[in-house]
Amino acid sequence: RGQGTLSVVVRCYGEGMRLVLSQDITERERADAMRRDFVANVSHEIRTPLTVLSGFIETMSSLPLTEAERRRVLTLMGQQTERMQGLVSDLLTLAQLEGSPRPAADRWVSLDALLTRIQSDAVALSAGKHQITVQPATQVELAGVESELLSAAANLVTNAVRYTPAGGQIDVVWRELPGGAGELSVQDTGLGIAREHLPRLAERFYRVDGSRSRETGGTGLGLSIVKHVVQRHGGELSIQSEAGKGSRFNLQFPPARVRHAGEPALGVEA
Ligand code: ADP
Repeated sequence: RGQGTLSVVVRCYGEGMRLVLSQDITERERADAMRRDFVANVSHEIRTPLTVLSGFIETMSSLPLTEAERRRVLTLMGQQTERMQGLVSDLLTLAQLEGSPRPAADRWVSLDALLTRIQSDAVALSAGKHQITVQPATQVELAGVESELLSAAANLVTNAVRYTPAGGQIDVVWRELPGGAGELSVQDTGLGIAREHLPRLAERFYRVDGSRSRETGGTGLGLSIVKHVVQRHGGELSIQSEAGKGSRFNLQFPPARVRHAGEPALGVEA
């Protein structure tokens, strides 16, 4: 499609214009294709639990069920409803992140307070199935939006629990990097991810193993949310992983967003 439009432009306007216009068209087509993919993905993700729910409604209205069966069906219906709620909540979070400008340093957030909450989330999610360590980062503060930082870290920890079999190890570590930057890492000894998937992992709805992710309550949006949050905070998400061995997800923050309590801020007013 792009090629046909391009040849008309060449005849009318010449070389320079051709390049600019063809790039515009390709960009627009790519954006349109992404939008179509996104809508198709959302529709699919919503249709699946809806189909299951309508099957259960049919069952309940047409079959005489015992009390135990009725309770079982209601539990399963509740799970499907929760799945849709999770999806809608992640979609709203993503829309908010994409729609608003990069946050100023809302305020200085205590990393230790953040880590304490992450630890209790991780322990509750794991329900004793994993060894979990969260190293304290005393006195360190990050400039940003606390709820967003918490949501990014919580997504990483949820994934670590979700994709690490029982008995595995999960570590949350803060490291100081040269020049005043810092890195929050969530590391696990879980399933790991084959190299070819890594570049696409933070795309919306990209999953390595769709059925496993859905079974464990995944929406396929978690890492997109993480990536947006860290980029809005001037940082980067990086991923190291090896299939069968485990993964490490790193949130790197620039010096301007990191300080030790009592130190003057490096370039960020908060
Ligand atoms: P999901 O809701 O499916 O977990 P994410 O965007 O959070 O979506 O992650 C995308 C995919 O990346 C997951 O479906 C899973 O295949 C893979 N993944 C994420 N975190 C891990 C991890 N810690 N270990 C192994 N695979 C992971």
